[in-house]
Formats: sequence, structure tokens, C-alpha cells
Amino acid sequence: MSKHIFVTGGVVSSLGKGLTSASIGMLLESRGLRVRMQKLDPYLNVDPGTMSPFQHGEVYVLDDGSETDLDLGHYERFTSSPLTRDSNYTTGQIYQSVIHKERRGEFLGQTVQVIPHVTNEIKSVIAKLEGDDVDVVITEIGGTVGDIESQPFLEAIRQYALDAGKENCLYIHLTLIPYLKAAGELKTKPTQHSVGLLRQIGIQPDVLICRTERPLGRDECAKIALFCNVPVEAVIEERDKDFSVYEVPVSLLDHGLDALIVRNLRLRGGEPELDHWRELLHRMRNPQREVTIAVVGKYVEHRDAYKSIYEALDHAGLAHRAQVRTLRVSSEAVEREGPEKLLCGADGVLVPGGFGERGIDGKLEAVRFARERGVPLFGICLGMQCAVVEFARNVAGLEAANSTEVDKDTPHPVICLLDEQRQVTDKGGTMRLGAQPAVLRPGSRSAEVYGAEAVAERHRHRFEMNNAYRKQLEAHGLAIAGTSPDGQLVEIVELPGHPWFVAVQFHPEFKSQPTRPQALFAGFVGAALRSHAARPNAGRAVEAVQP
Ligand code: GLN
Repeated sequence: MSKHIFVTGGVVSSLGKGLTSASIGMLLESRGLRVRMQKLDPYLNVDPGTMSPFQHGEVYVLDDGSETDLDLGHYERFTSSPLTRDSNYTTGQIYQSVIHKERRGEFLGQTVQVIPHVTNEIKSVIAKLEGDDVDVVITEIGGTVGDIESQPFLEAIRQYALDAGKENCLYIHLTLIPYLKAAGELKTKPTQHSVGLLRQIGIQPDVLICRTERPLGRDECAKIALFCNVPVEAVIEERDKDFSVYEVPVSLLDHGLDALIVRNLRLRGGEPELDHWRELLHRMRNPQREVTIAVVGKYVEHRDAYKSIYEALDHAGLAHRAQVRTLRVSSEAVEREGPEKLLCGADGVLVPGGFGERGIDGKLEAVRFARERGVPLFGICLGMQCAVVEFARNVAGLEAANSTEVDKDTPHPVICLLDEQRQVTDKGGTMRLGAQPAVLRPGSRSAEVYGAEAVAERHRHRFEMNNAYRKQLEAHGLAIAGTSPDGQLVEIVELPGHPWFVAVQFHPEFKSQPTRPQALFAGFVGAALRSHAARPNAGRAVEAVQP
């Protein structure tokens, strides 16, 4: 029978519940336990696919095409728990399902209410992850305890222990212990209040993980334990990490979290084995080289809007024992100030995915800069579409070539709507989504770095390269390095002869893991390192343009 861990958060949002949950998953897996991860989000959107990255950060896409919360990216980077549609539910989805059932008459005349109908629906999506091959289901509840929206979820996990047995459920509460400079003290009161709120709705947390910038002393731990009604050994410190989030699992292990979980849930499994992870941290701390990659996008001010891209760059750096410095360049700033000034210090330019017209010209200029100067370029999704448009305009001489997403009336629609999208009117969940196979052209850079002739990568787009322009662009030197297996959709374009000009219609960043860097990212960073070696002043130029 599967056991359950429920992770809640208190005091403030953005405490890193996703990372903490992922770390717990990793610690349990390191003992040989089989884990499934899940996030329940209290907002009303059916999924985050319709939300702006400014609101919600990156939309993380799974193989099965679900558009999910970016915390699932942490789950995939930290654990091997298979993730599917069932790994992320929102209030919107829960209500949608309850309302469908009501319309079908499944409630047989009952008054449909939050308790029990909505809470039953929530419990059923948690139960979906149980199985003979699953030791522990880890369910993270989004939001902060005390939010009106979270209440049905908290009520459902409270009831869960009644159904499954308290001995099979563990409640972990992540909280903040702020340091008050004026008082020179760590303050436990917000945590007491937050646990108080949980206890009011009938949940007594078993473990408190305390985010803090200073070490928690014995006295503080004892005080938290007493006021929050938990054993003192269940007060676990999680100090801010100034180096890397990849330190979190090791630090939680060192503070005894996994032993506590295993004891509480009476789990079997061997001793935790995190040697490979410690080795990874060691390599991260001791890079032998440095390289600067400019990410030119619309959402660079938002910390999490290109989360998986930043992570994948770090992983690729690790593969080369190099530290990747990312220069986050606003594409609109490129429009105002020109690419020379903003990109002169970059060893490589990455143009990520995106939507709409704003900032497009800056992306096109960034591509042109990289193409003309022989700076390695990596285009992803919209970035690939920009690479094609730029090439069409400035190499193939197709003046005013564009994507129809940006200019419906362009004389040269080199990027156009996918056929399957023509009848689509709803915005949510209707793009070409999820893992799709691609075949690679032998001898291309992509085939070389993948070491394969066929790959499957995750997609999220409505537009594609227009086949009507394929021949013309190829004649001018653009290489089609990857297509869908039927040859109909262009998946990768390259510029042979350029140090690295690879642009892909898919999102390779979603499949990169610290211990398994994604092949194209590794290839791109490798090329940027070569370009750095050839331009020893690159680093200094970066200092000059950094604010
Ligand atoms: N807006 C483009 C499209 O829909 C690119 C999407 C993306 O970059 N994810 O095709």
C-alpha cells in the first residue's frame, strides 16, 4: 500500500515548496523507495497554459502534452518519478470535473457541495497516484495556509488520513523563521500562527521545515516544537542557499529529514546514497572555465519565466566543467540600444520561446548579430521561428518576410499556422503539445550531438516553418536538420559553416537533468566555450554592460 506525504506552506509564498518536495522525493529514491510526485494548485485556471509568464513563470510541458506548473520541472530534475496529467491538478480542473458529473446526473439528486463533493474529487486525484509499484505519494499543496482558495485542498488532505489511516500519512509544513535585524533575533511567532491555522482545520503537522537565513539554535527549535506541538527532532532547519538549489537535498539529509520520514511512515529501504549528487555539487563548486550566454527574451526580468532554460544551461555547463553566466537581455532593450552594446560580451546567444509581437524585432536583431558575427546561436521555438524569418529577410532577400503570428498580411509568410490549428478557437490546451518524434539528417550538428537519428522532444506551439519556402531557403544555405517522421514539419534548422547555429521548434530544456544534460544544450555551451577561448576579452566586455 502506498504511503502519503503532504507538503503545505505557511507564512509567505515562494518559500520553495516545490524544491523541498522534490528534494524529499530524491532522498526517498536514494533509499531505493519508489516515489510519485504531484502538485495541487488552488487557482481557478484549468492549467497554467493560459497564464502569462509574468504571472506564473514558465509553463512546464510534460511528455503527454500537459501544460503544468513549473514545480514539476523541479520534480523531473530531482527525481525519476514519472509525471503525467495526474501530476498536476488545479481548482479549475477539480470544479470542471465536479460540474460535468453534476450535469450528467451522477450525484443522483444530491445538493452538490464543497464538502463532500469537491473534497472527494480532490481525494480521488490523490488516490490516482497510489499503486503496487509506488511506496510514497508526495502531494504538494500550492499556495499558503490561510488562503481562502487552499481550504478545500487542506480539508481534503485532512480527511485523507481518516480514510487511509494516520499512520500512512505524514504532514510536512514548510514555514519561514524571519530574522529581525533590529531585534537581532529569529522570530518564531509567524510560524506559530501558521501552524495554529493548520491545527484549526484539523491538521497537526508532523514535521516543520523552517526556512531561515541564520542557523536555528537549540532554544529556537525547542520553542517552535513546544508551541507547534511537534517533537523537537521534527523541527528541521532549511537555511537559504547562496550557492545553488541543488544543495537542498543534501542539507535536508544532513538535518535528518529522511530518517525522520522513514521512521514516521515505517518505510523500508536502505541507507540513503547521495554520493553522485555530492559529486555533482563538487563539480559545480569547482568549475574550470567560464562562459557567458545571453538569453534574449521578453520576460527576462521575471526570475522563473525561462526557468528550465537557465537550469539546462547550468547542466550543460556541468558537462563541460564550466560555469555558465547567463546574461538576461530584454529583447525590447535590444530594439532600443542595439545588439552590439548588449551582446558584445556574450559567447553564445539563446533566443527562447514566446508569443506575440512585442520584442520580436530585438530577437531578430540578436539572431542577425549572432549569424553575422559567428557567435553560437541557439533558437528555441519562437527563437527558431525568428531564425527562419531573419534568414529569409537578410540572406534569402525575402523582404518583409514574417511569421503570420506577427504580421497576418506579410508577403512572405515563412512561418505560418500549423494546418491542425486552423479550426482551433479555444486557447487552453490546444497547441501542438508534448513529446513528438523527429528524424535528424545524418551529418547535421544535431545528429552529431544527439548521437542519434531519431529523437522525441516536447513541443508547445501553433506555428511552424512554411513548407512553401523550404526549397528557396535551402537554396540560400539554410539546412533542414530535423523534421517530423513524415517529413512534413520542420523541427530543426541549422546553418552549416557557422560555429553553431541550431534552432529547434521544440523545447529541449524540459528534458535536461543535472546528471543528464540535454544534448543540444551541451553542444551549444561547448561551442560557446570554443568561441570564448577565441575571444579572451569577452568576459570584460560583459562587466561593462552589466548594470
Ligand atoms: N508563438 C509561437 C507558436 O505558437 C512559438 C511558441 C513558443 O515559443 N512556445 O508557434
